[in-house]
Amino acid sequence: MFDKILIANRGEIALRVVRACREMGIASVAVHSTADADAMHVRMADEAICIGPAPSVESYLSVPAIISACEISGASAIHPGYGFLSENASFVQIVEDHGITFIGPSAEHIRLMGDKITAKDTMKALGVPCVPGSDGGVPDLDTARQVAAGIGYPVIIKATAGGGGRGMKLARSAAELENAFRTARAEARSAFGNDEVYIEKYLSRPRHIEIQVFGDGQGKAVHLGERDCSLQRRHQKVLEEAPGPAIDAETRARIGAICADAVARIGYRGAGTIEFLYEDGEFFFIEMNTRLQVEHPVTEAIFGVDLVREQIRVAAGQPLSFSQDDLQLNGHAIEVRINAERLPNFAPCPGLVNTFHAPGGLGVRMDSALYGGYRIPPYYDSLIAKLIVHGRDRPEALARLRRALGELIIDGIDTTVPLFFDLLAEEAIQRGDYTIHWLENHLARRGEG
Ligand code: ADP
Repeated sequence: MFDKILIANRGEIALRVVRACREMGIASVAVHSTADADAMHVRMADEAICIGPAPSVESYLSVPAIISACEISGASAIHPGYGFLSENASFVQIVEDHGITFIGPSAEHIRLMGDKITAKDTMKALGVPCVPGSDGGVPDLDTARQVAAGIGYPVIIKATAGGGGRGMKLARSAAELENAFRTARAEARSAFGNDEVYIEKYLSRPRHIEIQVFGDGQGKAVHLGERDCSLQRRHQKVLEEAPGPAIDAETRARIGAICADAVARIGYRGAGTIEFLYEDGEFFFIEMNTRLQVEHPVTEAIFGVDLVREQIRVAAGQPLSFSQDDLQLNGHAIEVRINAERLPNFAPCPGLVNTFHAPGGLGVRMDSALYGGYRIPPYYDSLIAKLIVHGRDRPEALARLRRALGELIIDGIDTTVPLFFDLLAEEAIQRGDYTIHWLENHLARRGEG
């Protein structure tokens, strides 16, 4: 097992990893920018090293600075958290070339899933159901017309190198195709420096259902059920729950087994998430994330496991500490993402937090790097806290969420907390009856968003 792990991240996820390290008796090294000298992850870790100025490209994304910090501190492994360098295959290669262990999958698997066409081809070959669409990239408008006519409208044009919802355009009919094709390519070129696009059938009212998988890197893998992350604004998740309100035990076992088998067969190591759109009882693969997800705590709550601990174990060459049969789902969990943003427009709202009081009590978990007197810097993501509740069933989890939100105090800045009170009052949310479009439509009805 490692003696010391460097955490190449900041905020709540860096704290999350510090906590797992401490329980395992492993020393932790925080890295930080000059803007984060007073951050909680710096205070909580055993050691801290400043790796550069405020902009991420010069600090949290600076590969030489992170490798140097590893060498100076003597850390033998790096946990990347999510975002930043977590899905950067060339970073992983450099880390390994320096004899440091990357806590995550191999560079090869990250590269495989980072290109969406290759990812889809790989998954299809492994028996994972995919959205009907073009075979690979679509080089020109004539081909696009033929492919779209073959699939049937509406279709969605997506960037091969895509991420964050960019380079994605809908064409409802043949008349809209030319414009959608050209704008998707132009957007892909400017966002990713690669204008290759592909075409998929557009699903009009799906849910976003993702399966958590875990591989030991030696050909064994398990699944930990699904999360429903349909409540999204601009393709960003806002509230996640597990199990999914629309998924029954038999469906879970079936799609879970397909996903676990697929990652076992490629010898995948560590945590991964296979994302699907789910409509009329059918699953359609869209992408795989080769890292820990922001919303992993809802899965931890219902299965009673520590996914970060497990990531560290398999990175050190140890076997998974649970088998598929050990994983018994218990109750219901919901996470809300609390951002430093001002409603109704979700404008980023960093600044000084005067008072911070986290809710507590049975079934309540708060993952946050806030403290009273902390000044949230303006340079980074606006996620400041995740509130996760666990109950015996969904109604209990909803009631607990309302109770916990009522106890929470974040004074001095605006946050997205009022949105969650609003959602809890909605019948569709209480019934668990929503698609990926529900939240945007709801905000539009209220003149927000
Ligand atoms: P990105 O990597 O840019 O986030 P994804 O492929 O994960 O792209 O898709 C992001 C979101 O876009 C999905 O969660 C869904 O809301 C929407 N989307 C993607 N593909 C389709 C599709 N074929 N039909 C309908 N919506 C889609």
